[in-house]
Amino acid sequence: MSKERKRIETEVIHSGYDSKQYEGSLTPPLFQTSTYTFDHAAQGEKRFAGDEEGYIYSRLGNPTVRVLEDRMTAIEEGGGALAFGSGMAAVSAILFYLLKSGDHVVCSKGVYGCTFGLLEMMEEKFGITHEFADLSSEESMKQSILPNTACIYVETPINPTMELIDLELVCRIAQEKGIPVVVDNTFSSPYLQNPLKTGADFVLHSATKYIGGHGDVIGGLLVAKSAEVIGEIRMTTQKDIGGIMSPFDAWLLLRGLKTLAVRLDRHCDNAEKIFDYLKKHPLVRNIYFPGDQDHPSHDIAAKQMKRWGGLISFDFNGTKEMAQAFMDELKMIKIAVSLGDAETLIQHPASMTHSVVPEETRKSMGITDTLLRLSIGLESWEDIKEDLDQAFSKIEEKVSMKMES
Ligand SMILES: *Cc1c(COP(=O)(O)O)cnc(C)c1O
Repeated sequence: MSKERKRIETEVIHSGYDSKQYEGSLTPPLFQTSTYTFDHAAQGEKRFAGDEEGYIYSRLGNPTVRVLEDRMTAIEEGGGALAFGSGMAAVSAILFYLLKSGDHVVCSKGVYGCTFGLLEMMEEKFGITHEFADLSSEESMKQSILPNTACIYVETPINPTMELIDLELVCRIAQEKGIPVVVDNTFSSPYLQNPLKTGADFVLHSATKYIGGHGDVIGGLLVAKSAEVIGEIRMTTQKDIGGIMSPFDAWLLLRGLKTLAVRLDRHCDNAEKIFDYLKKHPLVRNIYFPGDQDHPSHDIAAKQMKRWGGLISFDFNGTKEMAQAFMDELKMIKIAVSLGDAETLIQHPASMTHSVVPEETRKSMGITDTLLRLSIGLESWEDIKEDLDQAFSKIEEKVSMKMES
C-alpha cells in the first residue's frame, strides 16, 4: 500500500488496509479472537519483551482494530491512534495518561456531561483541579494557566450552544507554555476539522456519533501527534484500565467511516436548509448554528471548519411545557440523545444531556429550559422541514385555542 497521502474522501475508504495481506478480502476481515498462539515458547518471550512484532492478546492489539486505528491516524494526520470501547474510555485514558495528583486542567467553558463528571471525580479523589476558562483571548487564556496546569482540554463547537474555540490561538499559547492540548472533535468529525494540523497534541472522538454514523456502535478514538506517545498509552492507561474496543465494533466503524465524507456533506446541506427555515420561524427565539452570520463564533468557524456541521440548537419561543409538547408532536423526527445518525434526532438538554449540570451553571452556559438540540439527519430536507412545520402548527393551534377559551 502506498504511503502517499490522498484526499480525505479517499483516505476514509482505503488507508490502513492492504487486501493483499488478507487473501484479497476487499473488506477488512473480522478477527474475533481474544488471544494469539505462539509457535514456540521463545517466540512468546520475544513478543512480551518487545523484541518481535506480533499480536499477543486482544487487549493489547487486534488486527481489525488496528486497521481502524491506522485509518484514523491517516485521516487526522497524526502519528498514531488508539480505539476504545466508548468515547468516555478515550477521554479517561488520555486524562489519566497526562495528569497526576496536584495537577490543574484548563477546559473550555462547556464540556460533555460525562467529561464534566470525570473532572469532578478526579478533583475529589486525586486533587486534580480544573477551571472552565474563557479561552477567547490571549490575555484571558494566560490568566487561567497556572504553574501546575498540565493539560488544556477543549471541545469545539461546544455542546449545545455551538460556541467555538479558536484552535490556532489556544494551540499557539499552549505551545509557548509547553502544555499539551487535547481536543474533543466529536461534533465536527475529522471531515470538517483536523485539530492536529492546527497544533493540538491529541484529538479524540466519540466514534458513536458521526464516525459510526448509523446508531449501532458505542466507541471512542484517540489520535496523537506522536506515534511514540500512542505506544506508551497503549501499554499503560489503555492496557491497564482496559477500556478497549471490540473487534466487531471496529469492523462496524470501518464500514461507517467509508461514507463519512458523503454523509457529512448531506448532513451539512440539510442543516443549512433547516437553519434557513428555523431562523425565520416566529416560534424560534434564539438559534445556535455556526453557519449563522449573526452567531458570535461565525468567523472562527469560517477559519477552522470546512463546513458548519449538522447540529442546530434553538430556544423555543414559549415555555418549557410548550417546547416539550412540540417534541411530542414530531412524527418522523425521533426524540433521542446522541447525534450524527442517519435519523434526525431532537433532545431537550436541560432535562436530558445536561440535567446533571447544576441549574446555575447550566444557565451560565446558555442552556435554558426552552433550548432544543437537533441533530439533522440524512433524510430529505423537505421532509425534515415538513415534520417541524406540522409540529409548530399544532402548538400554534393549541395556543390560539387556549386564548379563545
Ligand atoms: C457522546 C460524546 C462523548 C462520549 O462518547 P461515548 O461514546 O458516549 O462514550 C464525548 N464527547 C462528546 C462531545 C460527545 O458528544
